[in-house]
Amino acid sequence: MHGRLYNELSLEIAIMPQTPLLIKSGQKASIDPALPDMQFVRTRRRLPNGEVSEVVYIPGSSLRGVVRAHAERLLRTLDEKHACYVEAKKFCLRQNGLKEDKEPADRLYKESCYACKLFGNTGIASRVQMSDLHPAIDPLRESRFGVAIDRITGAVAVGPFDLEVVTDARFEGRIVLRNFTVGQLGLLGAALLDIADGLVALGHAKSRGLGRVCIEFTRAEFRFCQPADGKIPGVGELADQELKRKYGLPDGDTLPIVGFQAAQRNALYYQASSDDNDQIRGWLSEAAPRWVQEVQRAG
Ligand SMILES: [Zn+2]
Repeated sequence: MHGRLYNELSLEIAIMPQTPLLIKSGQKASIDPALPDMQFVRTRRRLPNGEVSEVVYIPGSSLRGVVRAHAERLLRTLDEKHACYVEAKKFCLRQNGLKEDKEPADRLYKESCYACKLFGNTGIASRVQMSDLHPAIDPLRESRFGVAIDRITGAVAVGPFDLEVVTDARFEGRIVLRNFTVGQLGLLGAALLDIADGLVALGHAKSRGLGRVCIEFTRAEFRFCQPADGKIPGVGELADQELKRKYGLPDGDTLPIVGFQAAQRNALYYQASSDDNDQIRGWLSEAAPRWVQEVQRAG
């Protein structure tokens, strides 16, 4: 199914920290005493003047990890079985006795849990891609002094150490969702909206109030392989009957949206877009409850 594009959402977002944010670098603390012990992750980037500079950024994998973990929490509120535990190697395909390299793609998809269907596992590709998020303006950084307290003895377990936090910034990047069902769009939307509303934090020391962010949806662009008028069609609506059966795609896979219209873009695709944060939030909110319906119908 991944060989063909049935539908696609390209979502441009901006993440703004509301409380100090620290996305830790995977590297060991630097021996340079001028640098904080816990540094914000950095990447090298070419500036408009041609110079190469190190800038703080949010790796796509970090955002993806938070979105997936929250989506899994939402799924487990319905039933544990909808999101397997990858860390414990008890993930759905092995539980179901399947070998990733010996089964056809449709069977692997069908036998995967709902979380893996959307975010992928060792047997099936993810439907969601997240780019790195780079600062659009020069971020404001501060050094904070911290200690880790041992929960049992109350003594200082680690530290004191410096935390490098970003207090004011605008990180921009893109999320792409391909060949999605309306429920999958809904689950991704629900997770993003919870992060956007500050209910789910990013990065280090979340329990101490760090990492609350707000998300601005700056652009959404949908592409479909068929016309879409007054609705967002999911892959269950766009794929043919045989593919639907093989992959176990849902019936009635459309989301009615008043005024939504995809205009013909070229010989292959129809496109609808918006640059309006409120409108994009509205679309995601409409889709959000649909994952529950889809999961419950599939049983
Ligand atoms: Zn799974």
